[in-house]
Amino acid sequence: MIRKTKIIATIGPSTSSRPMLRKIIQRGVNVCRLNFSHLEHDDAKEIISNIKEINQELNMHTAILADLQGPKIRVGIFEKPIKLKKGDEVVFSTKRKKNTIHISYFGFAKDVSKKDKVLLDDGKLALEVISTNKKDTVVLKVIFGGLLQSRKGVNLPNTKISLPCLTKKDKLDLDFVLSEKIEWIGLSFVRSANDVKILKRIIENKKLHHKIIAKIEKPEAINEIDSIIKAADAIMVARGDLGVEVPLYKVPVYQKMIVEKCIEHSKPVIIATQMLESMTDNPTATRAEVNDVANSVIDGADAVMLSGETSIGAYPLNVVDTMRKIIRDVERSDHNISKSIINKTLVNNERLLTNAICSNACDIAKSTEAKAIITVTYSGFNTIKMSSYRPNAFIYAFTNNHTILNTLSLVWGVRGFYYNRGTTTDQTIKETKEILKDRNLLKKGDLVVNLASMPAQEKGMTNMMKLSKVK
Ligand code: PGA
Ligand code: MN
Repeated sequence: MIRKTKIIATIGPSTSSRPMLRKIIQRGVNVCRLNFSHLEHDDAKEIISNIKEINQELNMHTAILADLQGPKIRVGIFEKPIKLKKGDEVVFSTKRKKNTIHISYFGFAKDVSKKDKVLLDDGKLALEVISTNKKDTVVLKVIFGGLLQSRKGVNLPNTKISLPCLTKKDKLDLDFVLSEKIEWIGLSFVRSANDVKILKRIIENKKLHHKIIAKIEKPEAINEIDSIIKAADAIMVARGDLGVEVPLYKVPVYQKMIVEKCIEHSKPVIIATQMLESMTDNPTATRAEVNDVANSVIDGADAVMLSGETSIGAYPLNVVDTMRKIIRDVERSDHNISKSIINKTLVNNERLLTNAICSNACDIAKSTEAKAIITVTYSGFNTIKMSSYRPNAFIYAFTNNHTILNTLSLVWGVRGFYYNRGTTTDQTIKETKEILKDRNLLKKGDLVVNLASMPAQEKGMTNMMKLSKVK
């Protein structure tokens, strides 16, 4: 393994064929994202089974992320684009009426108030509410005009939206997602920890283990960020909608704040949207985009995400290559996160033992220049924890659980291996080192740190570490 920061690619017409999936995975994609805003279940099923087969062929553990659309609001369908001029008054209606713009969200007239902003088409057009009948009709003034096309997105940055986080469509998509072997579920437009808990309860009631990524793209989520990070399994900085819902100039600082807090709380964090946007149509990126990816790696994000670049773009392979090269260059430099991270303070919580072992494993690996930290995991918990200390050494995770192996593909610095032997701690430590040596990931004389729980039969919390040389 030569890279610690992971790559997520959104799968679409440009990448959904089996040969293309195989190529992007070979070039470094660790997680395939299925965007249920634009995907039929039959197509998703085929993509999923192709990824599973490619994983077997290549002995890889590519994860799948199913991203639910959430309460995305859109304008209706009209025959030709509507021209909106600054100062014009327009009428939005939840009923299909002549001379009004249809909007799909039933609570619209009830939820908005005078002076609320209504942004259309990723904020390219801006309107302001003049009046609402609180039933079905809203009169608006155009602040920033342009051409409005059918089905464009609507963002309401000042309005408390009454739509639930899981819409009717999301529930149907969720039924499908939970029936498939998918590791991660993206929950869009999260506003509070409770949104995450509702989904968590649905998953747990079915005795399933899908992990939840809370997408941060609403101002409410910024205000509730600590409790959302605690409730979720991972976080996505969904800069597309976030940059429309809050002033764009605030996004960079929010991004850094969220990444820092996620590392602090040991929750994987993804930076998403428009990372290499211009490569959707061009074979090379802009300098600003390259800087954006590099800075996300410098901040210490677990993963960087490609959206349209790989789903509908003309150069999906170039994009993955570009991203991989940027990541490698930063990680080889003095600006890599292992060098800049300040050790976390240990809090005396129920996981004090695991925390203390991981923190010290990170220090020992650094001071001895150990080449590997080896974990054995049943739930992935200790490995995600270990990763959150952002050690200089690579983390090799051994588990007999295929789902956990795939899950860990999203996590910074971790590479997973299937392992189902090891009845004693001594045997496990010896064998895991041998496996890594056989794979040329370690050589004779390398120092390694093994984390384990003793006694091994209890499969309990990580409570010991061993520093040893490869024979
Ligand atoms: P989306 O989420 O692509 O589902 O909109 C990401 C974002 O808003 O940045
Ligand atoms: Mn979004």
